[in-house]
Amino acid sequence: MSGEAAGPAVRRLADWSAADLTDLADEYGTPLYVTDLDRVRENAARLLDAFPDADVSYAVKAHTGRAVLETVHDAGLGAECASAGEVVRALDAGYDEVQYTAVNPPAEDLDIVLDRWRDGADLTVVAGARDTVSRLRDRGYDGRLAIRVNPGVGAGHHEKVTTGGHAKFGVPYDRAPELLAGARVDFDVVGIHAHAGSGISGDDLDAHRELVARMGALAREVGDLEFVDVGGGFGVPYREDDQPLDLDAVADATREALGDVDAELAIEPGRYLVADAGVLLTRVNTVKPVDSDGSDGTVPVVAGVDAGMTTLLRPAMYDAYHAIRNLTAERPERPVTVAGPVCETSDLFCEERPMPTPRRGDLLAIGNAGAYGYEMASTYNSRPRPAEVVCEASEAPREAGEAGGLVETASLARERETIAGVTRLEGDR
Ligand SMILES: *Cc1c(COP(=O)(O)O)cnc(C)c1O
Repeated sequence: MSGEAAGPAVRRLADWSAADLTDLADEYGTPLYVTDLDRVRENAARLLDAFPDADVSYAVKAHTGRAVLETVHDAGLGAECASAGEVVRALDAGYDEVQYTAVNPPAEDLDIVLDRWRDGADLTVVAGARDTVSRLRDRGYDGRLAIRVNPGVGAGHHEKVTTGGHAKFGVPYDRAPELLAGARVDFDVVGIHAHAGSGISGDDLDAHRELVARMGALAREVGDLEFVDVGGGFGVPYREDDQPLDLDAVADATREALGDVDAELAIEPGRYLVADAGVLLTRVNTVKPVDSDGSDGTVPVVAGVDAGMTTLLRPAMYDAYHAIRNLTAERPERPVTVAGPVCETSDLFCEERPMPTPRRGDLLAIGNAGAYGYEMASTYNSRPRPAEVVCEASEAPREAGEAGGLVETASLARERETIAGVTRLEGDR
């Protein structure tokens, strides 16, 4: 795949059709996640174009919706899973090659995953601790094994990698050769793995280069590997003026840093596949000036909306920036704080950000909500989780003057949860 199939490097919130999104909100209600499968396809195509010789997997935790899993699988990617639940969902969605990255795996996770392996699933287990390796051995696993390495870039190096190299993840770099050698006796040792979790950014590839170089050196030292997996973390531009990642530059830097190794390069991005394929729609229900003298047009206002930190957690949890667009009207700008209905001060999507003065009933779109959006939704405050629709505009080519587009192909991917749904696990008392 190449050229047009790969689409532009980024889809901004401004590129979405306000008319289409408004129709979807009217039909399905808010808060509503909208996921465009065409954009997922384009993102997959761009990755495969940039890394033609690599083994590219999708870190499914970014968005595990069935339609997304199937779309990414059809594009030719494998699946990287972080739990037994994800392994089961990936296998059910048709993935034939599934990697299970076991971080402090609960016993039940190992049992479920190894049951699938005994049933014939083509699995690779990535272990990040000597203990995990022995627990796999105890359970009779003798299949494909990779060792997760903590790249261990210490003080004085790049803070990003140091953070990503938290001791929780992976075996210490210097211990990896010994663990790998020991594991070869009982397992089919196929690879080494590292994921910095740091966000590979356009302006700073040094941290990524360093991680990859360390993995290349380790691969040469231990020899006889099928793959060297350097993880995910491909950044996406959350701010309107952030530049999109230059994938070719990342690919060149990766190949160069890896050096000459007799093993395949593997990558496993999550966010990159789905972030700009999703928006969150939410409606304004309350508007009030920040101080009592609200007559001045520059006084900041708080706009209360029906989505909150239980719908999209990233702003509250990571202080993450998400673009916000008023789909209802162009109005003079003033500083606006967009706040959810949850009784927590951190339940804010932005603080005093200049945007058109919202009014009650306005529809807002929150951009780049496709990754770690629905996945991190919760029922805190007994708030039911939102609905999600998936669309594929390319399936409904527009005739001149026709509406069409996203709306015609939209289908409900996840129903809106109900209050009864929130309490269903309590049973009858
Ligand atoms: C979360 C995760 C990824 C994907 O990270 P992104 O930032 O979404 O690309 C890849 N590999 C592992 C092991 C992960 O835990």
